[in-house]
Amino acid sequence: MNVYDAERMADLLAPIGYEAVDTPDAADLVILNTCHIREKAAEKVYSDLGRLRRIKAARSQGGAMVLAVAGCVAQAEGDEILRRAPYVDMVFGPQAYHKLPEMVARVHREQGAVLDTDFPAESKFDFLPKPEARGRYSAFLTVQEGCDKFCTFCVVPYTRGAETSRPTDAVLADARNLAAGGVKEITLLGQNVNAYHGASPDGGEWSLGRLVAELAGVEGLERIRYTTSYPAEVDDDLIAAHRDVPALMPYLHLPLQSGSDRILQAMNRRHGADDYRRLAARLFEARPDLALSSDFIVGFPGETDADFQATLDMVDEIGFIGAFSFKYSPRPGTPAAAMPNQVPEAVRSERLRVLQEKLSTCQARFNARAVGTRMAVLFEAPGRHPSQLVGRSPYMQAVHATAEAELMGKIVELDIEAAHPNSLSGRLPMDGAGARRALA
Ligand code: SAH
Repeated sequence: MNVYDAERMADLLAPIGYEAVDTPDAADLVILNTCHIREKAAEKVYSDLGRLRRIKAARSQGGAMVLAVAGCVAQAEGDEILRRAPYVDMVFGPQAYHKLPEMVARVHREQGAVLDTDFPAESKFDFLPKPEARGRYSAFLTVQEGCDKFCTFCVVPYTRGAETSRPTDAVLADARNLAAGGVKEITLLGQNVNAYHGASPDGGEWSLGRLVAELAGVEGLERIRYTTSYPAEVDDDLIAAHRDVPALMPYLHLPLQSGSDRILQAMNRRHGADDYRRLAARLFEARPDLALSSDFIVGFPGETDADFQATLDMVDEIGFIGAFSFKYSPRPGTPAAAMPNQVPEAVRSERLRVLQEKLSTCQARFNARAVGTRMAVLFEAPGRHPSQLVGRSPYMQAVHATAEAELMGKIVELDIEAAHPNSLSGRLPMDGAGARRALA
């Protein structure tokens, strides 16, 4: 979502004369868009600010550099940023960036820094220009923000705020605009995306499943994904969408966090390991070619070797094809940070190593299984070699193939020939059918 938000900030700044540059050296305005989810991400802000301070101080020609901190670190630590880094000109949270043009004007007008970490009554989406395709074939689209679940480890409810859903017609309008510009694939975004319940024109509300089904009817849109979802809120509509909507890709990122019931309960996840097993079984039944990936936290307070083993066992049992895994990071103001039984750093590191080794074996096995099969790949970019293109399989695997440039932006059936650590290579079927179909 930070990628999406950063694009939207650029969209807001374009009409007042700003355009993107590659380095901060000659920039008139630098915005650090930040993440507060783990300590490492938050601390990085201060080291980056130190570097930018020197660039800003060295500036003698071409006017001053305006330095801004946006996103969730700004939301959580606004005052502290201004105290620790008084050379920062603007600090604003993830729900306030629609006011950027006004904030830029204020900085130029006034002495002193601008701080905006309110949760405004209005929705920023009502102030953003229409998202444009800009030559992309795959785009993000925020449909939901915030979270009301209060997992004991997580800062999101405090930094992004309460759950809100964009109205269905606003989402459909954005999707149509992107598709009209050539976008073939949309990833619907939300911190808790399947809590989506957007106001619909009939005066009711649509679930995420219903929204996906309607998006599938948007002219030109061929692939739909969504992330990140919350297991306890996968409803019948969403499972039906996985069964009935071919454009909904058979790949779902469904964070489990831990395989231990005791830890899941201490995390306030509102489901146990068995609930997840049953849910996975229902999803696989609805869409037999579905694959799941997950997020895991190791070393949550009180996690024993047996709890950790339960996580490892679930990885084997569910057959995740990949995952993001993290050492538990105590976050200020969250209940878990105050729990007495914190796990030593060395134990957390070792568990992470063991889990990641297992997960990379799972991923390699899944990639190896693709060899010899035919997969639909959306070509999105030139490959490493001049005659190559690279794209994504339904499971987000990067696939390279020798292909004509005219196949860019097309979904093409490829025969997968080899699996590498982070990608696959394929070739157009000999009979030329795949390319013919894609170009038709
Ligand atoms: N809405 C998702 C969470 C998205 S945050 C869910 O409910 O599952 C992305 C991931 O960061 C989380 O899934 C979690 O694995 C990780 N994470 C969040 N807070 C963390 C913390 N305090 N320490 C370590 N990892 C954390």
